Amino acid sequence: MAPIPGAGLAKGLAVTLRTMTRKTVTEQYPDVQPELPPRTRGVIGLFEENCTVCMLCARECPDWCIYIDSHKETVPAAVEGGRERSRNVLDRFAIDFALCMYCGICIEVCPFDALFWSPEFEYAETDIHELTHERDRLREWMWTVPAPPALDPAAEEPKELAAARKAADKLAAAQAAAAEEPTPGESTPGESTPGEEGPA
Ligand code: SF4
Ligand code: SF4
Repeated sequence: MAPIPGAGLAKGLAVTLRTMTRKTVTEQYPDVQPELPPRTRGVIGLFEENCTVCMLCARECPDWCIYIDSHKETVPAAVEGGRERSRNVLDRFAIDFALCMYCGICIEVCPFDALFWSPEFEYAETDIHELTHERDRLREWMWTVPAPPALDPAAEEPKELAAARKAADKLAAAQAAAAEEPTPGESTPGESTPGEEGPA
């Protein structure tokens, strides 16, 4: 069958018309910030207080882009006659985001919850060396880590929360007891102070 003259043009115009009436999907970034899912893998934050320098993340990283330096310190015995202990002290923790492939293995394997995903992604640099984020920068990313999702109402209270609540209750009880104790020199109601005469 011979082609109808102008059919191709009509087909093209039909596509144009259909597209013109559809809702636009173009993101006006950077004027408008994109709405990212909470589990976006943007950058990795380090909560170094939780890090025990176990090196697991550095060993498991497929790109070998986690650099950790540490030294050992001796901790004196907690009780007299006890044994001294040694612990690792973190000297350097850095991630080279020029090499990182955002697989998340380091975060998965960290047994001490010291690494977290942050959805922040605006850290492009003109110098590739600047993409190696040292521990201070990795710590700063922690402020951008979203809060964990709410617990299921029927779920058991997490062990950490229960322990923290118990400690807080104990502290509050100790403070209340201390506040009730009379301070030296202060008389309790019904008790006469030294030198004060009772009724004859
Ligand atoms: S996300 Fe993957 S590649 Fe990146 S630092 Fe962690 S383990 Fe290495
Ligand atoms: S796995 Fe976790 S605790 Fe161990 S060195 Fe890495 S960040 Fe620190």
